[in-house]
Amino acid sequence: MIVRKSPGEVAVMARAGRVVADLHEVLREAVRPGVSTMQLDEIAEREVRSRGAVPSFKGYRGFPATLCTSVNHEIVHGIPSRDVVLREGDLIKIDAGAIVDGYHGDSAVTWIVGNAYGDNPGVVDDEVAALVERTRAGLWAGVCAATAGARLSDISAAVEARALPHRYGVVKEYVGHGIGRSLHEDPHVPNYGRPGRGPRLLSGLVLAIEPMFNLGTADTETLADDWTVVTADGALSAHWEHTVAVTDDGPWVLTARADEPAWPLRDPSRVPRALDAAQAR
Ligand code: MG
Ligand code: MG
Repeated sequence: MIVRKSPGEVAVMARAGRVVADLHEVLREAVRPGVSTMQLDEIAEREVRSRGAVPSFKGYRGFPATLCTSVNHEIVHGIPSRDVVLREGDLIKIDAGAIVDGYHGDSAVTWIVGNAYGDNPGVVDDEVAALVERTRAGLWAGVCAATAGARLSDISAAVEARALPHRYGVVKEYVGHGIGRSLHEDPHVPNYGRPGRGPRLLSGLVLAIEPMFNLGTADTETLADDWTVVTADGALSAHWEHTVAVTDDGPWVLTARADEPAWPLRDPSRVPRALDAAQAR
């Protein structure tokens, strides 16, 4: 069952989204060689709680941490650990959620360790940097497709169109989702498929759009910890996610960070530089 939110509920979700956005800004500064993913998690829990919010993931189906931290060939749901110490050139995917007044925000980023601000591009091969940028472009293409009156699979097709020319593996077992009082609500939001299908997007629908593109196969495996999802061939993976409200004025990116447009997204020229860069390739 798809639950649409009232404008008042969307406003609360925007507060939850802001907590997650601010958290990602703090973590982006903390991501550097020598930092463990457990240290990132400790920072995250402190930050979320200091803002009067509650971590979405901690305790969710038994997940033990505030963040999912997935490195390199890990796609999603990695568990923070003192034993996982970041090295220059690693891809660290940080997925975070926060609850404010009963409503969730959910957002994920992929930072290149040693180049989280794009000012030290030499730490990874161009092919790796392009995977990260193009996955982010996939996210924003999906965001731009989340307009009232469109169909759900228009989002899916827009995302996938960013992967197909580059033969990336588009992860199919893990997809985006509705979000609200529950972290995962209907509908599923696949990152692949033909446009023009599925439910019509109406104002008040709030979706977490979250492409995962791999440099190799789309196939995944789950590690013995029962959480960490990895690429079956060990190739690198990137993941970006925003929580987006469909409004009559355009998509409202509830988890937008300071360098990203939030709302309304009527003007495609306002999408981030990452999208432009990926388009140019
Ligand atoms: Mg997430
Ligand atoms: Mg999500």
